[in-house]
Order: sequence, then structure tokens, then C-alpha cells
Amino acid sequence: MNLRNATLAVHAAQNPAPDTGATTPSIHLASTFARDPDGELPSRHLYSRISNPNRDQLEEALRLLEGGADAAAFASGCAAITAIFQALKPGDRVVCNSDCYSGTREILNDLMLNWGLEIRFADLWEPDFWDSEIVRGTRLVWIETPSNPQMRITDISRLASRAHDMGAIVVCDGTFATPFLQKPLALGADLVVHATTKYLSGHGDMVGGAVVAGSGATELFARIRKIQVHSGAVPSPFDSWLTLRGVRTLPLRMKAHCANALEIARRLESHPSVAAVHYPGLASHPGHELATVQMAGGFGGMLSFQVRGGEDAAARVAGACQLILRATSLGGLETLIEHRARIEGPGSPTPRDLLRLSVGVEDVEDLWDDLEQALRPETCRTLR
Ligand code: PLP
Repeated sequence: MNLRNATLAVHAAQNPAPDTGATTPSIHLASTFARDPDGELPSRHLYSRISNPNRDQLEEALRLLEGGADAAAFASGCAAITAIFQALKPGDRVVCNSDCYSGTREILNDLMLNWGLEIRFADLWEPDFWDSEIVRGTRLVWIETPSNPQMRITDISRLASRAHDMGAIVVCDGTFATPFLQKPLALGADLVVHATTKYLSGHGDMVGGAVVAGSGATELFARIRKIQVHSGAVPSPFDSWLTLRGVRTLPLRMKAHCANALEIARRLESHPSVAAVHYPGLASHPGHELATVQMAGGFGGMLSFQVRGGEDAAARVAGACQLILRATSLGGLETLIEHRARIEGPGSPTPRDLLRLSVGVEDVEDLWDDLEQALRPETCRTLR
């Protein structure tokens, strides 16, 4: 049966256990699996670093949700990202979106330069840069759409077509959009990476990551699988179980995140203390038309905005929030606010007056009341 997104989220890899009929997966904490007297293993599991029933279930669910050929779950989003780069060879050229999760930039600059990769950062959401950046000899193009934190939208299918013509593969970090809103593999990407820490698990109670491969990336994925099992940055059975449980409510949560974020974005846009709002659901967003085609069912729960009065005013707005929590991360039920440039540290390309919001599923009026009081003129006025 060709199941739709919401049905897949509930049913993917959730078959009743053959021995008990339990409709919810059991948690298999065993690190090792006994052989019978002939030395045979009763199931395909040998040792939990290599494979584990809960991890298998999670990987199968993510594979189905993304429409992929295979999936590998990791102990964090960053472990998944690192495994992809480690699957490359010294000398390989990587072109990465310049607006990307700061951890991806750090992995490239702090770890993968030593690995011998040739690394370029470019404004890949602008097709004008493709001819000069995505050139023959490029091995991998890394995009994030929507991007963290400036919410840039990159045309996955057009970029993939250019990259493939040049012999490169395309990786899309789909953490912000989730497979509920965007299917990068169907649009031409070769690999999708997720921080399952965020929307997929959805409750802010675990850290995890995943790589899902399309059918065109079999060889690279085989290396990623080796890195997963040999280096062992794998999620625990409980974290795998928590993530799979989160996946079951992903469609419900995403609808609420999207509705709240759109409403907050619209209200922020007309607020006198706000200089700019970055949310692809707004008609004023430069990627709005593209996002309307590329994303289905909404524009996600993430947005960022720039505060009149500069960095200190932005920090004071975050400091004045009473309900919204000042915390890093995203994709949980509760709304979080963060001054990204300060978190990203020296060299951050993020505007200093920018605040990022992970809009949760609370009542939108309560969220707005909190933002409105935090954005009052006394907070935003530049101190002289
Ligand atoms: N990708 C994106 C877009 C992220 O925002 C993050 C973390 O915030 C990651 C990847 C890394 O995930 P993790 O913190 O699970 O390593």
C-alpha cells in the first residue's frame, strides 16, 4: 500500500511483535545476542553496536518516511554529519551552504580540514553562485533548507541537477523541515541528514541523528554504514525507542508548530521594534514562492527576526521573555529563544541583532503576549 505521510508516521516499522502481539515495541537493552548450539544467531543481531532491534525499527521508519533506500541512525545529528564527511577521501572538494548550522561549519573547519577535504562555503541559496562554486571535481554539495538560522531556501531539484551534471552528490540537512514537510530525496538530493534530537523525537528528551540515502548513493552509504558500526556513535535502544515514539506524532506536532510560527511571524513583521522577520511562510520572504512548491503542508516551526536597536537590544528582548525559554536547540514542544551569534562565537556570519525562535505548540496567544511584553520600547531602546 502506498501510505501517506500521517499514516506512515504512525505505522512505519510499528508491526505488532510476532511473539507477544505487543503493538508498542519492546526496548531491547541487550548489548549481545546468544547463539544456538550450532553457532547460529536466532535473529540477525549479533552485538548492539552493530545492530539492535530498536535501532533497526527507527532506521526503517526514517527510511520509509523519507522514501529512501537505506537509513543509519547515530548518537547525535553531529555524529551523522561527521560520518558523511568521513566517508569522503582526502582531497575531495566539499561546497557547503554558508548559512548552515554552526556545528556543521565547526565539523568542517575543526575536523575535516585535517582529514584533507577541500572546503568551500558559498551562498548556495543564490543560483548565481552555482556556476562558479559547483564545478567539475566537486565531490559533495551540502545544503540546509530552510537554513539555520537565517531561514534561506535553496532550490533542491535545480541545485541537484547542476551538482549531478558536475559529478557531485547532494546532501540536504532536513532538520528544520522534517520529512513531513519536505522530501529532499524525491527532489533529487542523494542523502538527507537529520538531527533527530529536534522535531523527529520532538520532546527535547534525547540526542540523536540519522542519514537516509536515496538509491543513487549506495556506494557512499555503504561507507557511512561502516563508519556507524565501526566507530560506534550509535543511539541507545532507549533513545531509538523515544525517537520512534516521537515520529508517531510528528504530523500532529508539525501542524501545530507551523500554524503557531506563521502567526508569530506575521505579528512580528508588523511590530515596530522588529527590523526584519525571516520565515519562508511570509510572502515577503525571498524564498517564499520556492518554499511553497518545495515544502508541503507548511513552512515549519523555526523563524528568526532582527531587533531594532542592535545586539544589546536583541539580548535584552531574549532576557525579558518570561514564558519562552532561553535555551539552545529546537523542535521540542516548548518555545525557545536564542541569540545565535553569541552562541556561534567568533566568526559567526549571523547578524548580531538576530534572535532565533523555535516556536512550540503552546497557545499562540500566550506566546505573543510574552513576545509583545519582551519587545516593549524600553527593552529595545539602544542604551547610550
Ligand atoms: N543540523 C541542524 C540544522 C541543527 O540545528 C543541529 C543542532 O542544532 C544539528 C544538525 C546537530 O544536531 P545534534 O545537536 O543532535 O548533534
